[in-house]
Amino acid sequence: MTSEQGHDLTVNQWTDISSRLRTEIGEAAFQSWIKPISLSHRDGDIIRITVPTRFMSDWVNAHYSDRLTALWRDQDASIKSVDVTVLPDRYSQARNEERENCTALASSYTGPNRRQKGNSVQGEDKASTISAPVDPRFTFDSFVVGKPNEFAYAAARRVAEADIVPFNPLFLYGGVGLGKTHLMLAVANHIRKVSPQRNVVYMSAEKFMHRFIRALQEKNTVDFKDQFRSVDVLMIDDVQFICGKESTQEEFFHTFNALVDQGRQIVVSADKSPSYLEGMEERLVSRLNCGLVADIHATTYELRLGILQSKAERIGVEIPSKVMEFLAHKVTSNVRDLEGGLNRVVAHAQLIGREITLETTQEVLHDLLRANDRRVTIEEIQKQVSQHFNIRVSDMQSARRARAVARPRQVAMYLAKQLTARSLPEIGRKFGGRDHTTVMHAVKRVDELREYDPMFAEDVELLRRMLEG
Ligand code: ADP
Ligand code: MG
Repeated sequence: MTSEQGHDLTVNQWTDISSRLRTEIGEAAFQSWIKPISLSHRDGDIIRITVPTRFMSDWVNAHYSDRLTALWRDQDASIKSVDVTVLPDRYSQARNEERENCTALASSYTGPNRRQKGNSVQGEDKASTISAPVDPRFTFDSFVVGKPNEFAYAAARRVAEADIVPFNPLFLYGGVGLGKTHLMLAVANHIRKVSPQRNVVYMSAEKFMHRFIRALQEKNTVDFKDQFRSVDVLMIDDVQFICGKESTQEEFFHTFNALVDQGRQIVVSADKSPSYLEGMEERLVSRLNCGLVADIHATTYELRLGILQSKAERIGVEIPSKVMEFLAHKVTSNVRDLEGGLNRVVAHAQLIGREITLETTQEVLHDLLRANDRRVTIEEIQKQVSQHFNIRVSDMQSARRARAVARPRQVAMYLAKQLTARSLPEIGRKFGGRDHTTVMHAVKRVDELREYDPMFAEDVELLRRMLEG
């Protein structure tokens, strides 16, 4: 066999493998992680593949390398491993071709003006006047990583550690109190520590707007613009705040473009993904979508428990595991409430010099626990979900199996499981007397879809928030 034939064979195998992966992991994950992979060549018993960025190689290695190796072995048992390397240039090229909207941004990945090493001293003076204070306690070390936030964490870390802007902007989004600000400040703290000459500015979108309005009133927008000229890393928190505020958006758009064109890093956070931000100008939305959009999901029990353990360790208090488990079960709203609850329990115990027990915890936190106990009914869920997907409420009970009604029904079952204390058989009964295995299947299916389809995940998340709100 000639080496060319050998290569063709490998290419065919790769086509097979990637299409199997596509069905296994779903379209969204496939587009994000598998499609950008290029097969390089076979090297003895190693298959060499390339991806466009370091970030992607880390991600593919951490999440797909076992599966990739197994699938290659299915094709050819003599293969030992799959090796991932980074081949950057193709990436910017492909992006330039593929996404016209982003060409100006993509050019900055390789553009000649890239400035990573920091600006002049004059710049530092200016920055210190515009950045909000960055609390040193918010670091990557103090951030507990779990399934709901691992992607956002990895992306933020990548931005903090990168020598070359890896994606621009990094857009972090998620519900309130889930760690967006913490991650942004962690990026700021990290960069300020390892490259103090780089000019990192963190500010809320609200602050950005107030400064801009003041500049307009004082007729010195030139100064305003000037302040941003020397910024290496600009982080704007809670950008949803400028929705519907046209002139602020306009100014932000220009600041954004100017910085990106010079290869400076931008990090933005919001409570929703760019496309869901109502009252945000189309061109700004498309800019915000150009980099990497990373979401933080609602916490899981495991993550909440992890956060409590880490927090207790940090403040140096022994807390019975029963109490931790109780809190992780009960305080599900967000991490801020969870931390607040823990602090109150600890403060109370220290103040009156009593041991922390389950009873004192329940006593001290009765209001917080009651707020988290506000359970929605299955009927409310069915109503809200039907409205959202534009179907009839009666379809929640009907036997119709068309996708257009079956999927919303599954979402409603999923939310019923998440948000009520009802058992699977009880839920099944409320959905036209369905079997508990049907409910179980729905929960599993929705979980899978959430993982691989960000738009779907966001739909579910919005519904959850509306129902809980
Ligand atoms: P957001 O900006 O998303 O509303 P924050 O970043 O302000 O949320 O987080 C709220 C609080 O919860 C902060 O005190 C933050 O340190 C803490 N927190 C959130 N997520 C985590 C996490 N994964 N590990 C540790 N602390 C967290
Ligand atoms: Mg915040």
